[in-house]
Amino acid sequence: MSDAADLTPIREAVRALCADFPGEYWRSLDRERAYPTEFVAALTKAGFLAALIPEQYGGSGLTMTAAAAIMEEIQASGCNGAPCHAQMYTMGTVLRHGSAAQKERYLPGIARGELRLQAFGVTEPTSGTDTLSLRTTAVRHGDRYVVNGQKIWTSRAEHSDLMLLLARTTPREQAKSRTAGLSVFLVDMRQARNNGLTIRPIRTMMNHATTEVFFENMQVPAENLIGTEGEGFRYIISGMNAERILIAAECIGDAKWFIDKASSYARDRVVFGRPIGQNQGVQFPIARAYIGMRAAELMVREAAALYEAGKDCGAEANMAKHLAAEASWAAADMCVQTHGGFGFAEEFDIERKFRETRLYTVAPISTNLILSYIAEHVLGLPRSY
Ligand SMILES: Cc1cc2nc3c(=O)[nH]c(=O)nc-3n(C[C@H](O)[C@H](O)[C@H](O)COP(=O)(O)OP(=O)(O)OC[C@H]3O[C@@H](n4cnc5c(N)ncnc54)[C@H](O)[C@@H]3O)c2cc1C
Repeated sequence: MSDAADLTPIREAVRALCADFPGEYWRSLDRERAYPTEFVAALTKAGFLAALIPEQYGGSGLTMTAAAAIMEEIQASGCNGAPCHAQMYTMGTVLRHGSAAQKERYLPGIARGELRLQAFGVTEPTSGTDTLSLRTTAVRHGDRYVVNGQKIWTSRAEHSDLMLLLARTTPREQAKSRTAGLSVFLVDMRQARNNGLTIRPIRTMMNHATTEVFFENMQVPAENLIGTEGEGFRYIISGMNAERILIAAECIGDAKWFIDKASSYARDRVVFGRPIGQNQGVQFPIARAYIGMRAAELMVREAAALYEAGKDCGAEANMAKHLAAEASWAAADMCVQTHGGFGFAEEFDIERKFRETRLYTVAPISTNLILSYIAEHVLGLPRSY
């Protein structure tokens, strides 16, 4: 199925850019757990990461469908968009809930890539998925807030100028509702680093530039509060549909890469005097992975279409993320199996992509929490947590 609008030129342009960053580039970064600075710079220069910023702020003003196509093509080319995907969507909270002054101040710089808004500080070690239990506090003192606490899995913090931070401004027991009392801040990490903000990298199974961050009397000017104090949880939730759709598109790209690799290997590899792909035991898993990917792709497109029409897409964005993450992981597993021993060899890139795509059934939202959302909000079952 083709895209509703013809996105072929964008898709081809992303592919052409990615061709300059072949497997060897990613393999050497992976060995060192190093950041793909040149790749991110190239995407920024081409304007792809500013796809969703309106033209009035210097972005490309593209649709969610187009933005999803960009992320999909990056992954389908064998590259990895995770080191920079947040630059595309984290600004949505500022765009939707920021003041006119905040938008003027930050969005043009983000669109040009001079300001990197890549860090999203929500998850904490003790609260995990239970965001409303987070413990980081921001207490107002005159024209500033003083922040104390800790976040974990704050990805790209070392490669970001700004962080979107969720912190508690009203103690839970005094908040006017279950979801009230949390606030969102735009933290300028260039000023805060070593000035109340400490960042410690976490080495993970794939190259992901993730960190834990510590706040010790970190000062944030009150003018950096986004929207109304106490309404932050709602603002963060409203940005999650965009994140889910774009990550789902990445998973579709990964699945396409695995299916393409496996098909081509199964056509060429001859064992017992015939291509391995002639055996149904080899071709059926590839076909099954393809069917799963296509079904997920349709849901991603439905979610993106609803999003850009301004309609509620919570269920579709969650289902798209779930189906796509399952599809990419199934395709990854199939691809290793199809390659036999070579699936484990670094130079084939499969084991690297296998590790990278494993993340998406856990983060940014884990499978169980999506199932809970569908059970409660779509099927009307009792809330389980
Ligand atoms: C590499 C990486 C990058 C990340 N980047 C970021 C980032 O940039 N910013 C950020 O804020 N966070 C980030 N995260 C955090 C990520 O969103 C969380 O890890 C994820 O949401 C799961 O939360 P948790 O790890 O605390 O697991 P927990 O909440 O401890 O859950 C553990 C397991 O229990 C299950 N579970 C928990 N409660 C229930 C329940 N009520 N019913 C059923 N099952 C349940 C979960 O589904 C999960 O499988 C990142 C994580 C990783 C690994």
